[in-house]
Amino acid sequence: MIAYDLICSNGHLFECWFKDSASFEEQHSAGIINCPICDDTQVVKTLSPFMIKKSDGERKKGEEAAHQALQLIHEYVDKHFEDVGAEFAQEALKIHQGEAEKRNIRGTATTEEEVILKEEGVPFLKVPIVKRLLN
Ligand SMILES: [Zn+2]
Repeated sequence: MIAYDLICSNGHLFECWFKDSASFEEQHSAGIINCPICDDTQVVKTLSPFMIKKSDGERKKGEEAAHQALQLIHEYVDKHFEDVGAEFAQEALKIHQGEAEKRNIRGTATTEEEVILKEEGVPFLKVPIVKRLLN
């Protein structure tokens, strides 16, 4: 996993996690990375001056805090969301179109499926998988 500091065309700075740099390029060229503040998809990579100034120790602390926060999200999602695995995109579309019962679901989606969900206006949230990294 790598974190990129991104900036949208409206000047909002935000951090985004990706599996690797190729994954960022793929999602960036597909136009599915959006600003969490204004939803703009015209985002570019930037280097945060704050990250550069931090010592390794401080950076590590920040990473640990980020991992802990993500673990809490995962625990919450595990408890309250039904796991539909690779059927996520299909199921999310069905719920969106009223063909399936409205409920919280979680699962995995390919980049292509994410594009479809976005085009259909289905709201979803991507959460980086940290559990495996911590093992
Ligand atoms: Zn923005």
